[in-house]
Amino acid sequence: MSVRVPTQTIDSEAARQAALDTYAIVDSGPEQAFDDIVRLAVMLCGVYAASISLIDRDRVWFKAQIGVDQPQVSRELSLCNHAIDQPGRTLVIDDLDIDPIPAAKRRRLGGLPPRFYAGVPLLSPDGYPLGTLSVADTVPRHLAAAQVEGLELLARQTQHLLELRRLMLEQGQLLNAREAAAQRAEQARAELQRRHEELQQSATRDPLTGLLNRAAMEEVLAETLSRDPTERPPYTLLLLDIDHFKMVNDVHGHLAGDQALRAVAQAVLTSIRKSDIAVRFGGEEIVVYLPGTALDGATEVAQRIREQVARAPLRFPITVSVGIAAGDPTRDRPEQTFDRADQALYRAKAGGRDRVVVDDTPLFTSINPD
Ligand code: GH3
Ligand code: MG
Ligand code: MG
Repeated sequence: MSVRVPTQTIDSEAARQAALDTYAIVDSGPEQAFDDIVRLAVMLCGVYAASISLIDRDRVWFKAQIGVDQPQVSRELSLCNHAIDQPGRTLVIDDLDIDPIPAAKRRRLGGLPPRFYAGVPLLSPDGYPLGTLSVADTVPRHLAAAQVEGLELLARQTQHLLELRRLMLEQGQLLNAREAAAQRAEQARAELQRRHEELQQSATRDPLTGLLNRAAMEEVLAETLSRDPTERPPYTLLLLDIDHFKMVNDVHGHLAGDQALRAVAQAVLTSIRKSDIAVRFGGEEIVVYLPGTALDGATEVAQRIREQVARAPLRFPITVSVGIAAGDPTRDRPEQTFDRADQALYRAKAGGRDRVVVDDTPLFTSINPD
């Protein structure tokens, strides 16, 4: 029988090679399952040699073989290279002396040139020929139809083995990639926290309350926003405003007002963690940034602040209203989170003050960074 001259374009050869590379099988060690298949092929066809060949860039490499002298051969010397030229078909040459393929002359099976060859192309799921399952002998042979069919079934089993190998590889790579990403995010978070703590020490503080001032907040914000959103943790914002503070000033005097402000700031500072950031945002408004804290945790913090304010050692009672919103750096910008916290604060005021209201925008209520 005649052999078609290869007509593969460079593009399709590159795609074929890329398909083979996804298995990372070339130059891998022996595996029992592949060895078993070539053994079965020899038994089924009653021949001298069998191999599972994979056609790499410029060589044919054997994943498993029986009776083949070389561990690998160059592509031009390979019968398998001819076999993959018609990917969907099994190539059977009963007698290479009658149907010669020049390459065959240079091959050796137990020191002799091959006379018989049958190769079933091994295909990727996309139909790219990766190599062959082939049998060969040093004497002419003729396979019965059932033997050819059996060989094709073994080739299909080989393809399953290859797919299994690739899936396992992908899973492993997926896990590695996930672990690496989680590690990077964790490092970035730790670094961000360290920077926040540094800023707590260095940035300008408001002299009355000891809280960070607004300029410091801008600095923290700029620093935070310069980082990749996926490396920033989800967070919550608390927006706190003293209730009827104008009246406190009016009734008790500005100094008493200042004292109340300090008491509220103290209540905030004793209720938050080291990594949280409290800022005197306006006259008697305080913003607290709680990185890595979910809404329920933030609500507890807010309630703690309210209780502390209620117990503040002042001559007159004061209360605060708090609005809370969760933010996700991958989904919104800080201003948007701030707006939602502000709206929640507005509702706290409108609802009668002295309370905590949580933003209930659906997308953000489920953020759970813990
Ligand atoms: P609401 O419950 O709606 O918040 O009523 P409020 O009276 O607190 O209203 P608003 O928040 O508008 O009032 C802010 C007041 O805070 C006005 C200002 O006199 C007072 N204030 C701002 N900064 C200071 C400060 O540094 N010291 C004192 N004593 N008062 C301040
Ligand atoms: Mg106010
Ligand atoms: Mg107020």
